[in-house]
Amino acid sequence: MKTEPGAWNILIRNSIKTIDELSKEIDLTDEEKIDAKNLPLRITSYYLDLINKYPVLRKAVVPTLNEFKVSDDESVDPLAEDLYKMTPCIIHKYPNRVLFTVTNICGTYCRYCTRSRMVGDNLNFTKSQWDEGFKYISEHPEIVDVLISGGDPLTLSDSNLDYILSNLKKIPHVSIIRIGTKVPVVLPQRITNDLIDVLKRYQPVYINIHFTHEVELTDECKNACKKLLSAGAILGSQTVLLKGINNDAEVLKNLFYELLKIGCKPYYIYQMDRIAGGSHFRCDLDEMIEIMKKLISYNTGMAIPEFIIDTEIGKIPLRLDYVVRNENGKYTLTNFEKNKSIEY
Ligand SMILES: *Cc1c(COP(=O)(O)O)cnc(C)c1O
Repeated sequence: MKTEPGAWNILIRNSIKTIDELSKEIDLTDEEKIDAKNLPLRITSYYLDLINKYPVLRKAVVPTLNEFKVSDDESVDPLAEDLYKMTPCIIHKYPNRVLFTVTNICGTYCRYCTRSRMVGDNLNFTKSQWDEGFKYISEHPEIVDVLISGGDPLTLSDSNLDYILSNLKKIPHVSIIRIGTKVPVVLPQRITNDLIDVLKRYQPVYINIHFTHEVELTDECKNACKKLLSAGAILGSQTVLLKGINNDAEVLKNLFYELLKIGCKPYYIYQMDRIAGGSHFRCDLDEMIEIMKKLISYNTGMAIPEFIIDTEIGKIPLRLDYVVRNENGKYTLTNFEKNKSIEY
């Protein structure tokens, strides 16, 4: 689709797109001097500044040779989304809700992307493919909830976003509209007053923002979130558990509390999908469970996202069991301290 000119649009256009450009900005290690093939390279200059300041983020967006190591249990479509693709833009996996992929472009490409098979600048959807999506949803009254994703929907122009939101709003059985995005983190300049004016017309829009680490919460990012709240958006976060970046209970605890402080409720934290070439990011489930236990024990539920393992059969929540025993309806329950229990 055609995008309108705007300062943020220039920022996207001027982002780093090749390893040559990147090597002029940062000193690449031998391991990083690769021509990423599976997934395109793009880093906004804003996020590049951030990784220079906080090297912990580097691995998330700078490709490494590890991407070429594919293990047996990995695939290019680990969630079997192509099986549930009903139109070019619609993935209908859960009965009452759909994923509407409206663009293949992101502000910055994460090296652990679960849709690496379909993102990139040369693959974008057309307006008639969006229209096919609206038609599919209107013909399926069981769909009450539409999750607009991609790619990153907030890389679309305001008028294209308005077109999508207004067409969804027209469908009587669609009562919940959500947007999944990382733009407030990688390109906060995109959250303009004009965008806020568009979003205001569709309250409440649930916006789930992809956060990785508390250092992403810069003044610019916080300000972008504040503006989204002023549009009546309800903010949630989604995080991927990433080895060497955020696989630490203390790091995650800080992230989730910082998010709460700016009005963003931690929604999901994902085990990294079994995407091809992603093993260097993936933690063992043992480790995920240990992190979850540490987080759940002492923190308010407000600061705890659901721990999710996403698979070809759908999302599977990982939960702690507080039921010790159930004998003929008589329950033994434990609490966060685990050495205490109670009969119920
Ligand atoms: C994650 C996902 C959803 C939304 O799931 P929720 O648990 O409701 O947030 C919808 N469709 C697909 C295909 C998904 O992967």
